[in-house]
This record gives sequence, C-alpha cells and structure tokens, in this order.
Amino acid sequence: MKIAVIGSGISGLVTAFLAQESGHEVHLFEKGNYFGGHSNTIEIDDGKSRFWADTGFLVHNPKTYPNLIQLLEILSVKTIESQMTLSVQILNENIEWGGTDLGTLFAQKLNLIRPKFYRMIFELLRFNRMAPQLLVGLQGDARKTLGELLTEHHFSQEVRDWYLVPMAAAVWSTPANKILDFPASTFLQFCMNHNLLQVDGRPTWRTIEGGSREYVRRIVDRIVHRYLNANILSVRRESGRVELKTAAGVFWFDRVVFASHADQTRKLLIDQDAQESEILASFNFQKIVPLYTQIQVCCHSDKSYGPLGITRPRKMPTKSA
Ligand SMILES: Cc1cc2nc3c(=O)[nH]c(=O)nc-3n(C[C@H](O)[C@H](O)[C@H](O)COP(=O)(O)OP(=O)(O)OC[C@H]3O[C@@H](n4cnc5c(N)ncnc54)[C@H](O)[C@@H]3O)c2cc1C
Repeated sequence: MKIAVIGSGISGLVTAFLAQESGHEVHLFEKGNYFGGHSNTIEIDDGKSRFWADTGFLVHNPKTYPNLIQLLEILSVKTIESQMTLSVQILNENIEWGGTDLGTLFAQKLNLIRPKFYRMIFELLRFNRMAPQLLVGLQGDARKTLGELLTEHHFSQEVRDWYLVPMAAAVWSTPANKILDFPASTFLQFCMNHNLLQVDGRPTWRTIEGGSREYVRRIVDRIVHRYLNANILSVRRESGRVELKTAAGVFWFDRVVFASHADQTRKLLIDQDAQESEILASFNFQKIVPLYTQIQVCCHSDKSYGPLGITRPRKMPTKSA
C-alpha cells in the first residue's frame, strides 16, 4: 500500500517506521524545517562547554512508557537516569520550597515556623492519599474542574496555590490562572499514571543520552521517502483513495495517517463527516507560555531552587510571571 503520513513528531515517525517495516511504501510529510516536532534537541554553548537540551519531550519511566522503551531498544538508543523534582518560588508571598527532601522543604528557614506551611504539607499528603478515590468518584466526568474538586473537598488555599497550581502549570507549561479550569479527571489520571502523587515508590525517570534527536535521527534515516518544508494544505477522499494537496502539487495515496494535532487535522480534512468533525472538535488547546517573561542565567547553590548536584548554569527568574 502507498501510505502518506502527515507530521513527523514521535507519532508520525513511529507510524511511518512501522508501516515501512511492514512492507508498505511510506511518504512522510513535515511542514517544518526539521523532523521530530516536539521531540527536539538544541545545542547550547556557554563559552566553556557545549551541552544539549531537549525543548519538548524530556523524560520517561519504565512503568508508563513500555512501548517507547521497546522502540529505543530496537533503535539501540541509550538512556540515562534523570530527575523529576519540583521547586516553587512565589515572590509576592515570599514562599520558596523544593520537594526533594527535608533540606529543600525547609531551605527557606521561615518555613520552619510558618503554620500555613505545615498546613500545606498536611494537605498535600491528604490530596495525594485521596487521589485514587477522587478519580473513581468522578466516574469519567470530564466537566468537573480541578478548582471545583478542591473546593468540594475543602482543600486549603495553601495546598492549591503553593503546590497543585505550580506543579500542574510546570507540567503543562500553562499559565497558573488556567490550571483550576482543567478537568479534574484528566489532572488526576495524568498524575497517577506518572506516579507524581506519592512520596514513596516514585519511578526512576530516564532521559535519552544525547537528547531526543537521537531517536529522531535513527528513525528518519530509515524512512526512504521523507519531505521537509512540505506543508499539506488539504486532504480529501475519492473512490477509496486519498488526495493530498501541497504547494508543489497534488499526490494520491491508498491511505493517509494524520500525525498532526486534532485542530490542524480538522482544517486539513475537507470532506469530513459529522462524526469525524465532532471528534476532531472535541479537543481543547492551550497556548504554551514561557513561565518567566525575563530570565537571566546564573549559578547558585540555593537548594530550594531545584535538583541537587547542579553543575551547569540555570535560567532563573528575575521577575515573577
Ligand atoms: C515543553 C514540553 C515538554 C514535554 N515533556 C515531555 C516529557 O518529558 N515526557 C513526555 O512523555 N511528554 C512530554 N511532552 C509531550 C510530548 O513532547 C508530546 O506529547 C509529543 O512529542 C507529541 O508528539 P506528536 O507526534 O503527537 O506531535 P508533534 O511532536 O507536535 O508533531 C506534530 C508534527 O506535525 C507537523 N504538522 C502539522 N500540520 C502539518 C501539515 N499540515 N503538514 C505537514 N506537517 C504538519 C508539525 O509541524 C509537527 O512536526 C512535552 C511537551 C512539551 C511542549
């Protein structure tokens, strides 16, 4: 079969790779000027050394990502241990804490004598403990928001503003004022899938040695027909075949795989029926925002800011966002 794959993020890459391995003629179209989409790695040169940073996909763990791990083994891509830690700084409330250990929890000495801080810890443990039963209680209800759930179960303002909101805003790169509108079930399910709501037994997080570009490069090298700067303008079906329109002309395929986002796919597929339209319209999108509007790079040893053992300069806020 002749198959078109639209989009070269991890979804498109794996689809194209597996379809080609199964003997199909695959054509991979990417509108950007690099393959990988959110799987992207940049090189940073600080004058003394060069290092890499992933700008999208960063970490995985054995429990939640068995298929990714299988893929990395097939591609002979090496992984290394990484850390997932949370540190919070709220300037206007003079709050700083980190979740790594007791040292980072009380790195700001004021926290030792702050009753509200102890309340936050108590409530944090209560929330984490209750999470599974809260999720069951929601019975898949996608309408109840996180804010509503917290109010309903009398969670304090401290645990909301000093823990849950910063944690979720960091995970989803979302403005803090949008987090409480998140569907509670999505939030809980995600946190539980990734074991984010437990003190003990957290998974070991891993990252790709050399960055996610390593698996992107290995897959792309194997795809015979691949095109960059190839923006698909529209897709329509006729007599069991599929027509793709690009600036370069019209191409016909037996099948098409949309590895683009639902809102992009909705604009592309010009002959969608009512059911397709309803499904594609049902996804909500939120613009990713940088967490800080002004940043500077500095070295520091203040444990409350983040993971221990930092040897590299980090970007730190100069102004709260
Ligand atoms: C900052 C950040 C950090 C993240 N960290 C993690 C993490 O640590 N662990 C984790 O599991 N997930 C993480 N994620 C999420 C993860 O990166 C994404 O879920 C995943 O990469 C999405 O892959 P995708 O293939 O679905 O989409 P994308 O990677 O977005 O790929 C879609 C591709 O389709 C192309 N495209 C769209 N329209 C067209 C068109 N008309 N013609 C041709 N091409 C088109 C786009 O240019 C794009 O390249 C993170 C995301 C971000 C933003």
